[in-house]
Amino acid sequence: MLTAKELRKKYIEFFKSKKHAEILSASLMPENDPSTLFITAGMQPLAPFLLNEKHPAGKRLVNSQKCVRTVDIDDVGDKTHHTFFEMLGHWSLGDYFKDEAIKMSYEFLTQELQLDKNNLAFTVFAGDDNAERDEEAASAWKNLGVSEKRIAYLPKKDNWWEPTGNSGPCGPCTEMFFWTDKSEKVPDVFDPADKRWVEIGNDVLMQYEKIGENKYKIANQKNIDNGTGLERLLAVMNNLDDNYQTDLFWPIIKEIEELSNSKYGEDEETNKQMRIIADHLRAATFIMGDDMGIAPSNVDQGYVVRKLIRRAIRHGRMIGIKENFSHKIAEVVIEIMNEIYPELLRNKKFILDNLMAEEDKFTRTLQEGMKMFHENIKTLKHKNNISGSLAFNLFQTYGFPLELTKELAKENGLEVDEAEFNEEFKKHQELSRTAAAGKFKGGLADHSEKVTQYHTATHLLLAALRKILSEDIAQKGSNITDERMRFDFNWLEKVPEDKLKEVEDLVNQKIIEKIPVEMQELPKEEAIKIVKKLSFDLSKYGDIVKVYLIGDFSAEFCGGPHVKNTSELGHFRIIKEEASSAGVRRIKAVLE
Ligand code: ATP
Ligand code: MG
Repeated sequence: MLTAKELRKKYIEFFKSKKHAEILSASLMPENDPSTLFITAGMQPLAPFLLNEKHPAGKRLVNSQKCVRTVDIDDVGDKTHHTFFEMLGHWSLGDYFKDEAIKMSYEFLTQELQLDKNNLAFTVFAGDDNAERDEEAASAWKNLGVSEKRIAYLPKKDNWWEPTGNSGPCGPCTEMFFWTDKSEKVPDVFDPADKRWVEIGNDVLMQYEKIGENKYKIANQKNIDNGTGLERLLAVMNNLDDNYQTDLFWPIIKEIEELSNSKYGEDEETNKQMRIIADHLRAATFIMGDDMGIAPSNVDQGYVVRKLIRRAIRHGRMIGIKENFSHKIAEVVIEIMNEIYPELLRNKKFILDNLMAEEDKFTRTLQEGMKMFHENIKTLKHKNNISGSLAFNLFQTYGFPLELTKELAKENGLEVDEAEFNEEFKKHQELSRTAAAGKFKGGLADHSEKVTQYHTATHLLLAALRKILSEDIAQKGSNITDERMRFDFNWLEKVPEDKLKEVEDLVNQKIIEKIPVEMQELPKEEAIKIVKKLSFDLSKYGDIVKVYLIGDFSAEFCGGPHVKNTSELGHFRIIKEEASSAGVRRIKAVLE
């Protein structure tokens, strides 16, 4: 059995031997990127470097990135889609391009991993009115010996990557598939619609720049972005068609078997529920285990965690697990993963405490809510819809995530009026980008002017908190939209009004002082001397790092972008200070 640890290492070492520098996985929570709640691909934290920013570690990078894709939640329960997964990735930032990238991918699969060539197939972009058919990619595969029959040409909707919005780097993809059905001979002709062909990796070939709707020009900097699913590749390497049978999941499944007194593999409906439980609690463990201190709540990432935990618990009850169990699963996840992701150990108590509290709470309300649900649907006989207000009531009073109500509705042959639910939800929510609609777009952030301003204001706020409260303040998270900024930091109690006012005044003082914002690329040792508190592990970065300085007031290791002068920020106003989670406070502020 090849272990996940061995495979991760094989991938990273192989690309290191091809002169890629290893970088750390970024946090699961995007920093200063308002477009998504979670990192959905290894490329996302690298977005600034796809245009012309220089990455401190160089032009060739490799890593294993923690990802969460809430949009895949309906597929979870199958054998290959997870909410949380690790994406192995390597990049060329304006260095090698298509031919070399395809050669490297092929060498990795067929030589380093020794996968049977006969089980591989590839897709390339079919071309349309705005961008040409990718004959270059097809030829590159064919030159390596791949048969024409194993290459499928797919349209933009399947084989093209571009950022949200109307500008930014983009281009065709070429995807790599592996035949997973052991009981049947691999077909000669590749049919991508056949689910037994599983996508294991994808090279995005960024050769264009989007300059308007359906308008592209050849990019100045051409990039390669490879994403490879660790869980899927691991299954393939072990001759399995089921990710849950690899060492990443198997101990979790074993624990669920024991708790539920049932066996994995006996009944497909139970198998699916076990997979959902394993997946969701693994994802919840990783989200809460990130250093940002995300706890179950009713907004943003906290809402997603709550939804995942509650859905897992509900499936647990359905397969006969009576006692509180989510923390037991989390312990297994932490056991499997802490060596690679030590933050899980740092935050172990936080994860387990939150799970126990959430499961207690949910168990108590689940019964009451179920009663209310069933009483209400009795009166619905002639209509097919569960009103948005009933769904919202279940959400607010009994903590039922919309997804749960939708599932219950489906089991009873009903539907939920989601539009009405969302309206109700919005009425009750201030300021938050709600997760209720479940729409998390992928891709590049729109680094609009306002976002850049908030980015700089974040540095001013951090420096001001250090001056007024304590030198020990560290950033625990940050989130920016065009309308406001949110900043989390380590502090145990409510910040008194007068202190908050002092912080606000100090930030405004620095804006009035019109201080230039300066970027310096410095040798790591020097940078560390200037930037006193690092919230990152710099050990794996290259020798030269970027530091943003605001006079002698602030110095932070940061990729930018920032305004040129603090005077561009206008007036800074704190609108709220509240608890975010145990030991973490949150400030919401606006620039006006
Ligand atoms: P699929 O069509 O199978 O959902 P995708 O086209 O969404 O895959 P990409 O966006 O190209 O996948 O991501 C790169 C790689 O990450 C994929 O080739 C796959 O191996 C892996 N991957 C993507 N989504 C998931 C998921 N939900 N769970 C596990 N692995 C995934
Ligand atoms: Mg997908």
